[in-house]
Amino acid sequence: MKVSEYFGENVFNGAVMRQRLPRNIFSEVNNVIQNGGQISMATADVVAKALMEWATERGATHYTHWFQPLTGVTAEKHDSFLSPPDADGRSILNLTGKQLIMGEPDASSFPSGGLRATHYARGYTAWDVTSPAFVKEMSCGTILCIPTVFVSYTGEALDNKTPLLRSMDAISTHALRILRLFGNTEAKKVLPSVGAEQEYFLIDREKYLNRRDLIYTGRTLFGAPAPKGQELEDQYFGSIRERVGEFMAALNVELWKMGITATTQHNEVAPGQFESAPIYCTCNVAVDQNQMTMEAMKRIATRQGLVCLLHEKPFQGVNGSGKHNNWSLATDTNENLLDPGKTPNDNLQFLLVLSCIIKAVDRHADLLRMSTACAGNDHRLGADEAPPAVISIFLGEQLEDVVNQIVANGTAADCVAVEQLDTGVSTMPLINKDATDRNRTSPFAFAGNKFEFRMVGSSDSIATANTVMNTIFAEAFCEAADVLERSEDFRNDVNRLIAENFREHNRVIFNGNGYSEEWKQEAARRGLPNLPSMVSTVPTLTTDKAVQMFEKFGVYTRVELESRSEVLYENYAKIILIEAKTMLHMAGKHYIPAVVRYSSRLADSVCKVRNALAAADTSVQEGLLVDVGKRLVAADAARKELEEEVGIVNAMENVSEMAHRCRDSVVKAMKALREPIDALELLVDKSIWPVPTYGDLMFEL
Ligand code: ADP
Ligand code: MG
Repeated sequence: MKVSEYFGENVFNGAVMRQRLPRNIFSEVNNVIQNGGQISMATADVVAKALMEWATERGATHYTHWFQPLTGVTAEKHDSFLSPPDADGRSILNLTGKQLIMGEPDASSFPSGGLRATHYARGYTAWDVTSPAFVKEMSCGTILCIPTVFVSYTGEALDNKTPLLRSMDAISTHALRILRLFGNTEAKKVLPSVGAEQEYFLIDREKYLNRRDLIYTGRTLFGAPAPKGQELEDQYFGSIRERVGEFMAALNVELWKMGITATTQHNEVAPGQFESAPIYCTCNVAVDQNQMTMEAMKRIATRQGLVCLLHEKPFQGVNGSGKHNNWSLATDTNENLLDPGKTPNDNLQFLLVLSCIIKAVDRHADLLRMSTACAGNDHRLGADEAPPAVISIFLGEQLEDVVNQIVANGTAADCVAVEQLDTGVSTMPLINKDATDRNRTSPFAFAGNKFEFRMVGSSDSIATANTVMNTIFAEAFCEAADVLERSEDFRNDVNRLIAENFREHNRVIFNGNGYSEEWKQEAARRGLPNLPSMVSTVPTLTTDKAVQMFEKFGVYTRVELESRSEVLYENYAKIILIEAKTMLHMAGKHYIPAVVRYSSRLADSVCKVRNALAAADTSVQEGLLVDVGKRLVAADAARKELEEEVGIVNAMENVSEMAHRCRDSVVKAMKALREPIDALELLVDKSIWPVPTYGDLMFEL
């Protein structure tokens, strides 16, 4: 079957609604989707009935309010469509408007950061009409998923979707004010567009099941490097192996059915690492679809005897995984506000928008960094690999030149022309080059007509990153509009404002190598924040600057921000403790016993060989026995030390103290335990080693 014939067949999208809903109902729903407002209960009843009929035709037996609590993953509770049986014992299938619009899961078992005292266990889920319902085909049956927000009894956001939707309203309002200043009277709203490139690893399921660290934590906590890593650069864009290709093909079909435009797929830099990217769409739909994609990846991998690892750093020593969040801003009349046109130097609207974005990124670099904070991302940002934890913007040659001219002279007289590329091959046409080269090291890079925010972790929701971007840009647009709406000499004032923004904030622009040590020092000289750990980002949520902005634009209240801080600390501490306990388990139950077995085998060999021949040379066995013994002693000492550390944190009550102690002491003790065990892996007979090695995991797929 052609893809176009089944694309979107599992989505209750506009086309299905138009077909199945009475005209007036369709236009009411469509109007709310386009312009906001509320759907009446009578209308909701009609939509619910049509939705249920459509879903049951597709095999659905249950529905769920599908929401995104602060766990970072999605939550669902399935309810069947059955209604109470009649006197004859028959039951009909039903979904009411009320069931569609609202649900009431017990909120007490989701992270709330103290927002919900235990006697306030109620939480509500409410239908997000702007993200279409879909059916999900799973081994437990086919389920109708209704995207919803999740809020407390008192209306505070307990999820990632609520603030995101609020931030989309904010940016629309203030971007429209900018457009009106430039004479645009047609656009009714402005929406962020997002395309998220998703990186992931695949490994064999049998091998996975032999590693408790992968099972409990999603990453390897031990493991010596394989003889080969990614040094030959032969993996990136390499031809795709059959087993992986089959996974990608099955994934694409599932995503296409759910209306997700999975498009790009390729091998990534590390062995066993891959990427999938969809075509961009409206921000909140992109956020939902990214969650659906991650879920589908895990589901399909399992079906095929594989496991999909979404952790930011499954393997030490090779690249980790991230998510490139491509972001732009478009009107409902399809104008991209980030399109510089051919001559950006005289495109005042673009320059104003750009200068506002630069101002916002500079002012709220700390919040952007926070928006990508998760325990797994600590192994990428500011650790062994890129992007760095310092936020900077890459503009490319052409725009950097324009900005420099404006900084120096107030306006830019010209811009670097787009050049032609001559390959030197006579049969090749001349190619028009892009106005900007790529810079893979920049965390926030301009890419032609969008910004690519590269810091988000591969396992994380992209909701918070987009919420922060939308809000900080809304604030900068609002400030610009406040000044310019009062202006009596618009051209003059807009030029002045653009120059002022660039002059005050161009310290955040950096076009060089973001991985270099020099940049770290240069960034410090420029006064740019460097927040190398998840724990160090938490206070950014509750600075005066953050609270004032988020409250002003109605995105988070102070109470919500405080609760989120708690959730972050708690989440970090819990993850580190699980990792530490898993290490203790593996060291105590797997590694140390295996090494003891190996030692006695060596000792046996020494005795047996000497018995057989008194003059025999047993120096190799003896040398090994000494080496192995030393490391065994070190491993056991480190194990005890880690055990103590875990005990100390377990006895604490304050989540911030727990998180800090985890970062400062537990993580160190974990490293100290890993070292001798990894060294032992290289000494001990492979047939005795209790778990699959890096080589087994990354190269045997
Ligand atoms: P790259 O070559 O950097 O991977 P691509 O052109 O392949 O860039 O795009 C990567 C992602 O960016 C895709 O999801 C794509 O749909 C998305 N994207 C492209 N244009 C825009 C835009 N204007 N706004 C938001 N996302 C976009
Ligand atoms: Mg890219």
